[in-house]
Amino acid sequence: RLKEGRALAEDVWSIYNVANLPADCINLGQGYMNFAPPKWVTEAANEALQGVAENHYSHPKGRMRLRQAIKNHYSPKFNRDLDVESEILVTSGANEGQYSVFVAFLEQGDEVIMFEPFFDQYLPSVTFNGGKPVYVPLHPPSGDSKKPTSNEWTIDLAELRRAITTRTKMIIVNTPHNPVGKVFTRQELEGIAALAEEFNLIVMSDEVYDCLTYDGKEHLRIANLPGMWDRTVTVGSAGKAFAATGWRVGWLIGPPSIIRPTLAATTRIVFCTNSPLQEAAAAGLEQAEQRGYFKTQIAEYTERRQILTEAFDKLGLTYTLPEGSYFILLDISNVKFPEDYPFPKSVLGRGRDFRACWFIALEIGVSSIPVSEFYCEEHANIGEAYARFAFCKDTDTLAKAAERLQKLK
Ligand code: GLN
Repeated sequence: RLKEGRALAEDVWSIYNVANLPADCINLGQGYMNFAPPKWVTEAANEALQGVAENHYSHPKGRMRLRQAIKNHYSPKFNRDLDVESEILVTSGANEGQYSVFVAFLEQGDEVIMFEPFFDQYLPSVTFNGGKPVYVPLHPPSGDSKKPTSNEWTIDLAELRRAITTRTKMIIVNTPHNPVGKVFTRQELEGIAALAEEFNLIVMSDEVYDCLTYDGKEHLRIANLPGMWDRTVTVGSAGKAFAATGWRVGWLIGPPSIIRPTLAATTRIVFCTNSPLQEAAAAGLEQAEQRGYFKTQIAEYTERRQILTEAFDKLGLTYTLPEGSYFILLDISNVKFPEDYPFPKSVLGRGRDFRACWFIALEIGVSSIPVSEFYCEEHANIGEAYARFAFCKDTDTLAKAAERLQKLK
């Protein structure tokens, strides 16, 4: 049933997996940390493993302790008293939550609009469920911008309007954005919201990096705009919040009209999310505020970001300074490599950026992710200009990577 093409191809995370790269290559590719979650969170996981109920099935909606912790953490952020029974759903990672929304809502041929570049999973998750992705560009910064920031990647609301048809069911918003690091502005979100209202669309707002915005930039939630709560489902992730990407614990927050069908889908896909790590994620959310955890985390990530940006500045290469998330897009269009390099087959059939990233990983010793993967096949050439470097690593590792990258000169 699955058609040849991007959806069936080996995904970028498998190709650039550490297993395929030399052991001493510094991994700034797939976005996960090289440090453990905070002690007080892993201790809660250990404790949960000693229990009885904590080792067995949870309610498909999620464990009550976690739903309660999500309610307490997010109610003030959504300016409403979230209902743990009908407005919160724990999922096996943000990805499975999003997939379940597609299962619940997409009918054959329904169109889903996404801003391009987009987090790569959206594409197959939509097509596997009979949906048709429709792409609206995030326009890259103009060539004369020497020090672009992520807010110079812009949307054109007239283009968004033109992309809407009678088959459009949903718009995916991703803020802070992967891979660009863009934090959508109020004006942009209002423009998207107005069109969602006018054409009666569901908005899936992927906000898994909501705890990571820099330089005082405020994360805004489209669900909070007038009239938007009833048509928006917001996606969150314990992996990003607590440096625990392998836990696969995420959540959806939205109106009962969206959560109820999505609960039916997730119940059939995974039945429930792993129980002990839900307890630990709950402990994380319960204690984060009082420990000043998210504030400290932003300060740490700001320092991490700076190590890489200074390295790119020294090289004189153009990059996008991210206002959120933990990725930096580096313009690699002028980075040279021998075309007769012994590239593996998985890399050869793809864009120039796949070869550039492979060469940089093997010869410079730092891995990154080729950005054409975040574009559909027709527009992949735009992404070929960039490599994405993740800075969710400790400062020593980043400093070592920064040093190695100077060989790109
Ligand atoms: N969110 C991670 C990243 O962008 C990847 C998640 C995944 O591998 N599916 O690096």
